Amino acid sequence: MNKDILILLSGGADSLTLLHKAHKDGYNVVACLTFEYGQIWKNELKYVKKQIKDFNIKYNKKVEHIIYKINFNQIGNSLLLKHLIHGRNVVFLSIAGGIAATLNAENIGMAATCTLDYDDGGKRVKFTYPDCSLNFIKKMQDTFNVAFETKINLYTPFAELMKQDVIKEGLKLGVNYKDSWTCMENGKESCMKCESCKARTEAFILNWEKDPAIKDWNKALYYYMEVDKIDK
Ligand SMILES: [Zn+2]
Repeated sequence: MNKDILILLSGGADSLTLLHKAHKDGYNVVACLTFEYGQIWKNELKYVKKQIKDFNIKYNKKVEHIIYKINFNQIGNSLLLKHLIHGRNVVFLSIAGGIAATLNAENIGMAATCTLDYDDGGKRVKFTYPDCSLNFIKKMQDTFNVAFETKINLYTPFAELMKQDVIKEGLKLGVNYKDSWTCMENGKESCMKCESCKARTEAFILNWEKDPAIKDWNKALYYYMEVDKIDK
């Protein structure tokens, strides 16, 4: 098995952490794959380019950036594009598998994580999207094992971690979170109010750190507490 790896890089904090963790774990990052599928695109693409540039400088690498365009409008309701596309990792990993095989990279890194959500009783519980679950990852690995002539391993070290654990790992690795984008809104700066912003703020709070991507941290804390209060 070679240690060459293709990383799915979205511009967000989780996949940025994965990029650095893969390097630390001894993988040779040969390329990063970013999907353009109608999401709030400009910010994410800007950050992803900066993340790869910084990674290359920091570790003296020449990581290739592959941008793959998909039109999900032809699959589902375009209203879903902003927030969630059901089962999108099936599509993403299938394409990534083909690209990894072409690159002769025997590993694919994906930043699947757990998150917090509310159950029927209003209690906060650990939650995993179906296409980020351990079961999904195992089944995709089984599929890869029969679909490709060469071995392709899925590297998903965050699959059982919460966002705050991922950030904790990244802070230890010296990841520069200033150059990452998590917000679901298309503003010049993060809105600090949407679900993604709220989860990210919470992850930094739990690590006793300020999010370096947020200029006004007090405002982010205010929005976090307000939104949290409403939810409860
Ligand atoms: Zn936001």
